[in-house]
Amino acid sequence: MIPKDVEYLKCINCGHDLLLKVFETEKDECVEGKLSCKHCNEEWPVINAIPRLLPKNLLKNLVLPYHKDFFDKYHFDVSEKNRSDKSSNDDKLKSKTAQSFGFEWLKYPKILNQFEKDWERYFHPFITRKDIKGSVVADFGCGMAKHGYFIGKYASKKYIGLDLSEATEAAYRNTKKFKPLIVQADIYHIPLKGEKIDICYSIGVLHHLPNPENGFISIIKNMRKGSKIFMWVYGQRGNSRALYLYNPIRFVTTRMNRKFLYNLCHIPAIAVHSLNSVSKGLSKIGLKKSARLIPFSYYTDFPYTFKVSDTFDTLGTPTQIYYKMSEIDSWFKHSKLKKYQLEYDVVQGIKGYGVK
Ligand SMILES: [Zn+2]
Repeated sequence: MIPKDVEYLKCINCGHDLLLKVFETEKDECVEGKLSCKHCNEEWPVINAIPRLLPKNLLKNLVLPYHKDFFDKYHFDVSEKNRSDKSSNDDKLKSKTAQSFGFEWLKYPKILNQFEKDWERYFHPFITRKDIKGSVVADFGCGMAKHGYFIGKYASKKYIGLDLSEATEAAYRNTKKFKPLIVQADIYHIPLKGEKIDICYSIGVLHHLPNPENGFISIIKNMRKGSKIFMWVYGQRGNSRALYLYNPIRFVTTRMNRKFLYNLCHIPAIAVHSLNSVSKGLSKIGLKKSARLIPFSYYTDFPYTFKVSDTFDTLGTPTQIYYKMSEIDSWFKHSKLKKYQLEYDVVQGIKGYGVK
């Protein structure tokens, strides 16, 4: 992180300003350091240029196992004062989901050219490149910055990517040239000063949370008046394959060892890849309409490894909820956002946009 970017951050306990103590720098970035609250004295580590602003129990589950050296080197304490060490069921589910995504995105952290077309499709018609230019944009659940990369590319004033998992490491590497602020954070304990953010978005993330609507409310509560929010969740419409075929399979696969499941995902990925070859062949001989009718034609232009990774996403993520439009409509009604609009996405999702 650039030391100056501490101005975007706040304490997750009391909301006060944070102080950054730099241990190690690389060019103009702080790669190792410590953030502390001026008011309640709580402390958080900055590891590999990423502030890890998590509640202590999540810090212990999701950061300590991957960065033990840092904790030893600086005698960083993760024990919880005045609280029991027991994690709640929600924390367990959050940790399991974060570990699964962290595994997936670190396994295949590439930004593909095809993602740019996806970016347009997701945000259209609510957020455009013009909106991004000069804005401070916060990405809730950035993963490896599949969408965030383009926020940097389209000249945002600042791209802020938040994620609960180790995928933040991949997000940082992928967007480094745009001088991002990547933060390992929990959507229910947002460490950002809302008054400094112009656009908030969350794509393909809320439906994986223990309580998705509360995640959505948490973002809105943190927003300043006049700022925009965009979200995308799985929809039920057109998703019968996921609802009736994948979900029963997921009952078994979400309980499997991650590495084993990843290897197993080659089998469906080979099947999809073969179907894509048929689509490609049909397109080549001018039968584009028929090519599109072949199942999984969406994946035709993606590399094989991405197909393995996406299969793992479908089968390995601990929880995913598919929504009806009426359910998302009630979220937005309760949120009291202005000018809100909802739309079905062509790829089986529901988009929502509003202004606070
Ligand atoms: Zn504090």
